[in-house]
Amino acid sequence: MDFSLSEEQQIFVDTVRDFTLKEVQPWVRYIEENQGNDLGHKKAREIFKNAAKLGLTAMGYPEVVGGVKSDPLTIGLGCEAFGLHGGLPQLESGQPLCGPSGPGSVLAIAGSKEQKEEWVPKMIAGEKVVSIGSTEPHCGSDASQIKTTARREGDEYVINGEKQMMGGTRWSDAHLVFARTSDQPGAKGISAILVETNREGIEKYQFRTLGGSFWEIGGIRYKDVRVPVANLVGEEGRGFYLGMGMFDWMRALAGCFTVGLAQKSLDESVAYAKQRQTFGQPIGKWESVQFRIAEGATLLEAARWLSYRALWLAGAQKPYTKEASMVKWWVPTIAFNVVNDCMQNLGATGYTTNSLDELRLRYIRALWVADGTIDIQKIVIGREILGRDFVPYRREK
Ligand SMILES: Cc1cc2nc3c(=O)[nH]c(=O)nc-3n(C[C@H](O)[C@H](O)[C@H](O)COP(=O)(O)OP(=O)(O)OC[C@H]3O[C@@H](n4cnc5c(N)ncnc54)[C@H](O)[C@@H]3O)c2cc1C
Repeated sequence: MDFSLSEEQQIFVDTVRDFTLKEVQPWVRYIEENQGNDLGHKKAREIFKNAAKLGLTAMGYPEVVGGVKSDPLTIGLGCEAFGLHGGLPQLESGQPLCGPSGPGSVLAIAGSKEQKEEWVPKMIAGEKVVSIGSTEPHCGSDASQIKTTARREGDEYVINGEKQMMGGTRWSDAHLVFARTSDQPGAKGISAILVETNREGIEKYQFRTLGGSFWEIGGIRYKDVRVPVANLVGEEGRGFYLGMGMFDWMRALAGCFTVGLAQKSLDESVAYAKQRQTFGQPIGKWESVQFRIAEGATLLEAARWLSYRALWLAGAQKPYTKEASMVKWWVPTIAFNVVNDCMQNLGATGYTTNSLDELRLRYIRALWVADGTIDIQKIVIGREILGRDFVPYRREK
């Protein structure tokens, strides 16, 4: 077992560091403050396109669609490096600056030849963004109970229903919408369909969120929205299962999203603890401050390796659903507490916007809910350990 980075991984991490310091870090606050207007969005897209020019967004996509061969762990190291150097790993619409997004991973695997050619290269180039349309006003965790329908009429689907809490409602070019295409109950009746956001019959609305632009979410009402049958992704009735594979990927990556951010807070807290004096000595000598640092460093070390292992399993093509859920539950939970402790070490400065701690807290807090809540992750872990018969809410065989 070798815990060191390969030479290529180190070079890659250094490249992300340089890019973050120059292109991302100076703009994080600006993008966040411009929630809901064009300025933040334009800057985020510009940064995304610059990341694309460097090949970051292509990593992990198949080469036939313009991707760059890369293993999931290396992509995770890149995502960690964005946070570690004062940036954010995602600037809007849940689109990582390095590696495939959830919908990108689905399209690259299950999309038709035409969908791959039409969408994936543009997603990699930062010209198109596709987001996830799963959650509805009446259900989020209980995703097999969605009500949105896609009724087949000739060579079109007619979509009716409402999606909510979707990243990128305002800016995305399309959503991968999960809709019922048959009367089969639960997961079996659900298909994944690409629905462009400029289609007739679409009405959008927005929520203001704690997260600013980077976690902007909204809803779409679909009233007799017509899309060609060619927009079906994968097979009819398989959408739910495609979605679950997509969530494994996003959940495993979420650990690296958050570890880098929390580590940066810790590093800043350590530097502050060495120079800030109270009662005649640096605050780093006080047990309260020092122990917050020691505990945070230990928790982050464990979180980092849990995250790396989930991604290593993904790269080795081994099952990693359980580990992805362990990451998604535990890492954002401890990272939130670590950043909160680091904020405490800064005293009042931590509560101001001079520090990015408050922004990091808001970013990380979203991951307690987005892509499956921390409670749902524990159910997945329990199911993987105890077996499907122990799923508390199981309805169908
Ligand atoms: C920042 C952000 C971005 C998002 N982006 C998207 C997106 O792009 N696309 C999309 O479709 N959705 C998105 N979502 C929505 C997200 O997927 C849902 O909010 C999430 O799945 C939870 O659903 P809910 O909000 O309806 O909560 P509910 O499912 O109603 O749950 C409410 C509470 O009950 C708990 N709970 C529910 N069932 C159980 C159970 N069986 N056992 C124990 N506890 C349970 C939950 O953990 C939660 O605490 C996003 C959400 C956020 C916050």
